[in-house]
Amino acid sequence: MKKDIERVLIDEAVIEHRLDSMAKEIEEDFPAGPIIVIILLKGALVFAADLLRRIPRELSIECLNVASYHGGLESSGTVDFLDRHFPEVKGMHVLLLDDILDTGRTLAAVAQRLKQEGAAAVHTGVLLAKDKKRATDVKADYVGFQIGDEFVVGYGLDYKGKYRNLPYVGILKLSAAT
Ligand code: 5GP
Ligand code: MG
Repeated sequence: MKKDIERVLIDEAVIEHRLDSMAKEIEEDFPAGPIIVIILLKGALVFAADLLRRIPRELSIECLNVASYHGGLESSGTVDFLDRHFPEVKGMHVLLLDDILDTGRTLAAVAQRLKQEGAAAVHTGVLLAKDKKRATDVKADYVGFQIGDEFVVGYGLDYKGKYRNLPYVGILKLSAAT
């Protein structure tokens, strides 16, 4: 795995340090009362697991499977909901977590669906946000790191299903992107 990485963009210690402060921001912002965290699989799995263990309050966790990238390097432009059931969010404060904000289509589509389903408020958090023009007018309330418009893997992010378990965020070698 490591041999396929051109360079490390954000190492593990830096990520962990940032998660401490993000968790604090979230903890301070959310009003008292029930919180439901929605994790977008599979990319946000590692980020969410590490972030949520830093938030010392009662919350429930749901996961959603959506597909926008379909395993390649470019966004396909459509967002598919792959689950048969949608979590019950009526009247709840939702924290929606994804790995990365790229075109913004995924976060926009899921946030819109959550509002349709009656969520009282939808807050969004991402580990990474690419510094680029978004396809839709969407922003994340909590952003771990702003990065350039490059394709990254690791810490939950994949290329064709691989590299999610790298403990850092890195740039893939061109030779590994076949
Ligand atoms: P958006 O809908 O914002 O264009 O894309 C969001 C999804 O695209 C993310 O959840 C992620 O799965 C995928 N994605 C976007 N940029 C990257 C990237 O640089 N690396 C990887 N591995 N996935 C990305
Ligand atoms: Mg993905």
